[in-house]
Amino acid sequence: MSDTPEPLRQLIARHGLSASKALGQNFILDRQLLARIAAIPGIGPGDRVFEVGPGPGGLTRALLDTGASVVAVERDSRCLPALAELEVDHPGKLRLIEGDALAIDAAAEVGEGAHIVANLPYNVGTALLLGWLGGEAWPPWWRSLTLMFQKEVAERIVARPDTSAYGRLAVAAQWRSAPRIAMPVHRSSFVPPPKVASAVVHIVPADQPEGVDPAVLERLTAAAFGQRRKMLRQSLKGVPGAIVALATLGIDPQRRAETLSVGDYVALARALSPFSR
Ligand code: SAM
Repeated sequence: MSDTPEPLRQLIARHGLSASKALGQNFILDRQLLARIAAIPGIGPGDRVFEVGPGPGGLTRALLDTGASVVAVERDSRCLPALAELEVDHPGKLRLIEGDALAIDAAAEVGEGAHIVANLPYNVGTALLLGWLGGEAWPPWWRSLTLMFQKEVAERIVARPDTSAYGRLAVAAQWRSAPRIAMPVHRSSFVPPPKVASAVVHIVPADQPEGVDPAVLERLTAAAFGQRRKMLRQSLKGVPGAIVALATLGIDPQRRAETLSVGDYVALARALSPFSR
């Protein structure tokens, strides 16, 4: 760890890193804030971190300062010289991959048990999250997710039933994981400031309910919330077995999607999973 790291504003100017809107670049330059974000997953020496979009490397340095090692994937080749300097400061602790986080096999790159930490580019954040939360294998290859989202997306991840924020994302994030909003982040903390507020979400895997096919649960919530103003008897008409399952489980078919708990969706998906085989 360097005792006095160069101010990030200076480093960005030295490398000519003007923020690209297309790449979702809103940088955080406040080292105290970056240290607070890096502290959320409780990592230290011996831990491995996968970071998406290190940009000029402010969060990367804060993560390295915990003693953890970092594998970082960055799409913008302009950032690589600045990141290479960080590699020199932390020998053997940082591995850089130039590429698209949506296209690489992160599990293969980083290995089981890594923590994922990122100030995500907003245009790909939800797709990356759904990728990490999805799939048959559970517990997943990652140990925790610490991710910056637009506040509105963060609220959808932790939303409870009977709220307008509750939907597919809430069920996907809550049926076998425990998400929480760890820290609100004001828009003025970014350079350039985005139009909306942000928040860091922390997610750890929980036990997976038995007998549920994740693809069935996804199809179910897509149908239910795809027509969230309609009654379930209408929105679930196209899902084989769903209307019978509602009756079996004693769920009134006149209810709307947002009134069902995550547990209700799990129970429905469990009842429907044999239909999918
Ligand atoms: N981590 C830095 C920080 O906190 O200041 C930068 C965060 S900025 C919000 C998002 C970063 O993700 C940018 O550096 C951008 O180039 C990078 N990025 C955008 N799309 C990406 C993708 N598909 N794969 C990897 N990196 C991407």
